[in-house]
Amino acid sequence: MSEKKHHSSLHVRIEKLDVPMSELIGYFRGKCSKCGHQRIAHDDSGKCEGVMNKPCNSGCDNYVPE
Ligand SMILES: [Zn+2]
Ligand SMILES: [Zn+2]
Repeated sequence: MSEKKHHSSLHVRIEKLDVPMSELIGYFRGKCSKCGHQRIAHDDSGKCEGVMNKPCNSGCDNYVPE
């Protein structure tokens, strides 16, 4: 899971997005209408990995915003 590529620091890239941190946090906390978990529980392909060591048992593999 380690990234070998060297981009500029994440915080620098986030600053370039011109998106307030509060909006980013709100975005990642948005609930999935399929399984009810937050977006942040889903991996980059949209598959839900569950939360707090509990796997997602809905089989959600595509994050769907509410
Ligand atoms: Zn889920
Ligand atoms: Zn989901």
